[in-house]
Amino acid sequence: MKKIGVFTSGGDSPGMNAAVRAVVRTCIYNNIQPYGIYEGYRGLIEGNIKALESKDVSNIIQRGGTFLRSARCKEFHLVEGRQKAYENILKHNLDGIVAIGGDGTFTGANIFNKEHQIPFIGIPGTIDNDLFGTDYTIGYDTALNTVIEAVDKIRDTASSHNRLFLVEVMGRDAGFIALRSGIGVGAEAILVPETPTYINELIAKLESGTKNHKQSMIVIVAEGDDKGGAYQIAEEVKKHCPNYDTRVTVLGHIQRGGSPSALDRVLASRLGNAAVNALIEGKTNLMVGVVNKEIKFTSFEQAIKHNQTINMDLLKLAEVLSC
Ligand code: ATP
Repeated sequence: MKKIGVFTSGGDSPGMNAAVRAVVRTCIYNNIQPYGIYEGYRGLIEGNIKALESKDVSNIIQRGGTFLRSARCKEFHLVEGRQKAYENILKHNLDGIVAIGGDGTFTGANIFNKEHQIPFIGIPGTIDNDLFGTDYTIGYDTALNTVIEAVDKIRDTASSHNRLFLVEVMGRDAGFIALRSGIGVGAEAILVPETPTYINELIAKLESGTKNHKQSMIVIVAEGDDKGGAYQIAEEVKKHCPNYDTRVTVLGHIQRGGSPSALDRVLASRLGNAAVNALIEGKTNLMVGVVNKEIKFTSFEQAIKHNQTINMDLLKLAEVLSC
């Protein structure tokens, strides 16, 4: 390994910068020249690739977003697009690539690897925590803390006015953010895509809260819940309980931004370092993750296909604690 390229792809997440820094510094430590590939697969296709020095990653460990920028690149779905990417890898003599992203990024890397034999290691960088083969993805913990901070503020105003708030959080296909943040804020109910939502059960829960003289009620709704987002659920609640002062807040993209938490910075640093070491050892087509505190490698295929499953015990815990 003489030259290694690194890019960030798909949805950005806090801690991606810390991961890039770890990749760059580990390369330099091992006398490997690191290259930054800008805007994910688009940068590979367009040849937007530049050599990086240690100072290029100074003062970024604490910054949200990604200084390499990210993109969703349709052209990489096409054989011709991937061919162009391959030619640019050859042109820059890159011996290996570190891809930081989510399941889409690894799906692309897996397809690319079947066509062109370039060593690829993936780092899970997404707030969704929906990848198999790692307990946590980079950005998930920061996103959780952002949600908790926002909902604590909503709780203050909700309590002052005896209101019911439905707070929508990110999670089109997975309820990880909803579940953990819901427990963290002491939500009265948590609605996730993994389990069916029954409006009558939700109403019963809210009514029991009213009977118990709760001054405010918070329902956390994952955007991909089977009954719809927070606005749709609010309409149903209003039909059954017109007397409730019901409000909706959609947290949206604030969940993606912000300075990464301590947990995300350390995770990103470990995974960035392990990814480069893996390339040096000749590993390829693997995602590096942390399972039970240890560095573990999982094939791209498994990381994508075997969905990370929601912890049903935590859902039960939330129910018990909200009675
Ligand atoms: P997040 O989970 O945060 O959304 P992601 O990595 O899943 O991140 P995607 O937009 O799904 O984000 O994927 C990132 C990029 O990976 C796409 O823009 C595309 O360039 C590439 N990609 C995704 N799926 C494929 C595929 N089937 N074939 C080739 N490339 C793909």
